[in-house]
Amino acid sequence: MIPIKTPEEIELMRESALLVSRTLGMLAEKVEPGVTTLELDKLAYEFILDHGAKSGFLGLYDFPNTLCASPNDQVVHGIPTNTPLKEGDIISLDCGARLNGFYGDQAYTFPVGEIDPKVAKLLKATREGLELGVKQAKAGNRIGDIGHAIQSHCEAHGYGVVRELVGHGLGKQMHEKPEVPNYGKQGKGPLLRKGMVLAIEPMINLGTKRILQLRDGWTILAADRQASAHYEHDVAIGAEGPDVLTTFKYVEAALEKKGALVI
Ligand code: MG
Ligand code: MG
Repeated sequence: MIPIKTPEEIELMRESALLVSRTLGMLAEKVEPGVTTLELDKLAYEFILDHGAKSGFLGLYDFPNTLCASPNDQVVHGIPTNTPLKEGDIISLDCGARLNGFYGDQAYTFPVGEIDPKVAKLLKATREGLELGVKQAKAGNRIGDIGHAIQSHCEAHGYGVVRELVGHGLGKQMHEKPEVPNYGKQGKGPLLRKGMVLAIEPMINLGTKRILQLRDGWTILAADRQASAHYEHDVAIGAEGPDVLTTFKYVEAALEKKGALVI
């Protein structure tokens, strides 16, 4: 069974989701050459705690940190390190928080200074893929409609759509039913009903869709070691269509303020 949330529960989830969005907005100010992902992780941990919530990822399946920090060819689940970010890198930050008994979960891939235009196009197409997927998250549609929208947009650019990792239902658990693949067929898969909450999160590679896992048991890399992008929203299926609980407005305001590329 796919959990259905009451309108009251969805309002609680909106608070959790917005806290994660604000955390990413705070991090957006700090992402620059020289900063380490461990420093970003510490800031995220403290910010979430200061807002009366708990890190959603720390300790989840024994993950050691608050952020998944996945630079360049890392797809997802990168562990924060002491290596400073450098000009031209991209860094995917995925963050979770638990507030009021519910999880929020959101990711954004940041450019670090000036990036290769080819990589900037990948980021933009992945963002667009996310928005197209979100539009399909409405009652009466099926999970396959979301994946189809993402896959057809990203593959039209020649990018690789990762198959092994998928979005998910979200609620009192970080990962609930259903799985939300970033590929699929229109009209196929579980039916979407009002009150379901989904984390939609395309993971898109510049080159091959194939992935590798590092020996740390966590880090997922693009098999051809080319760039990979990841954006994520939490979306409630509402009566009037998708109700996006997260927002990128805090990230975008921070990036605009410092004159950085807004994807
Ligand atoms: Mg996430
Ligand atoms: Mg997620």
